[in-house]
Amino acid sequence: MNCRNCKTQITEFFSLGQMPLINSFLKKEDIAKEKKYNLSVGFCPTCYLVQLIDIMPPEDIFKNYIYFSSTSQYFLEHCKEVADTLMKKLHLTKESLVLEIASNDGAQLQSFKTLGIPVLGVDPAKNIAKVANEKGIKTITEFFNYDFAKKLRKERNLQADLVFGANVLAHVPEIVNFTKGVKEILKPKGTAVFEFPYVKGLMENKFDTIYHEHVFYYSLIALINLFKNSELEIYDVQMTPMQGGSLMIFISNPGVFPINENIKNLTAKEIKNGFDKLETYQKINDNILKLKKGLISVLEKIKGEGKKIAAYSAPAKGNILLNYFGINENYLDFIVDKSPLKQGLYTPGTHMLVCPLEKIYEKNPGYLLVLCWNIANEVMDMQELEAYRKNGGKFIVPIPNITILPHE
Ligand SMILES: [Zn+2]
Repeated sequence: MNCRNCKTQITEFFSLGQMPLINSFLKKEDIAKEKKYNLSVGFCPTCYLVQLIDIMPPEDIFKNYIYFSSTSQYFLEHCKEVADTLMKKLHLTKESLVLEIASNDGAQLQSFKTLGIPVLGVDPAKNIAKVANEKGIKTITEFFNYDFAKKLRKERNLQADLVFGANVLAHVPEIVNFTKGVKEILKPKGTAVFEFPYVKGLMENKFDTIYHEHVFYYSLIALINLFKNSELEIYDVQMTPMQGGSLMIFISNPGVFPINENIKNLTAKEIKNGFDKLETYQKINDNILKLKKGLISVLEKIKGEGKKIAAYSAPAKGNILLNYFGINENYLDFIVDKSPLKQGLYTPGTHMLVCPLEKIYEKNPGYLLVLCWNIANEVMDMQELEAYRKNGGKFIVPIPNITILPHE
């Protein structure tokens, strides 16, 4: 298998084996038909890009995507903050255009629109783009790539002051075609901003961000190489708390903006921490095995005391953890999720029925395994769980380190 950026032969360093498509929740009658696909990650020694060995056609994954951005309050607040910050930093006005790639149900664009900035969304998922259009966020149903960008520019005489994409850069297998499209649709002095999970997470036990939809796990040093390939330049970088630790990068045509010190600092840090070496990534294997043993022994101990455990929420990452660690009804009494889109369906691979939150008060588990560990604090403060907390209910946060809260 060759690198999707520079074509060098890549080396596998971590494998999760056969995994189901982790956002495809199942109806009961479809459980028997569920398919699994190899899921393993490799490293390119030439351009440092961490990437999946086998990929799924995006059409299979995204055409009936179940994730709606607007279901999380935390996410909506983040969107508002991003719009405010970018408007100031990039001097966006009512004469500007913000183009968002993979705009989902328009949550982020809504925040820009509220500030009076014209917006346009692009998203391949018909069901989700429809929701955005109904809300008044103009959204084109399409995969973004070079041809699409060229067509958009030619037919509508359109280029963007800001090209924005959150959680898309990691998802696009034909990444060079994508970055060339960004170059094409960006105004000469425009900025493209992308936010995506930082590869550092893999070294901090956050292995559950590995799934078929995430083709790439980026370091800054890999991204600099990638964008250079399309004659683009990264001029600034920031850390954000999204997805348990993300990077936000700022890209322009070469020489348009001065290169911020942040770039030099983070590059030096990555080299110091070995992000340019295969051995660094190979260490993941031992770390995750240790985490698995630790979590299983915690669950066994609780079960041994005759107490019930439920899983709180069924995010993609949670499904990876359950499948890879072999945690299903053998340890969990049930699983709940706030999203009505998941309730009544079965979890991929582990085949547990997703229940509404009320189930917690019917069954009174002593422990909730928080699979959306990246927003564990938000979960523990939720009003819906106030009575659970008052009853002495506890939370098991599995990642980055197994923690039981409140402390015993
Ligand atoms: Zn490469």
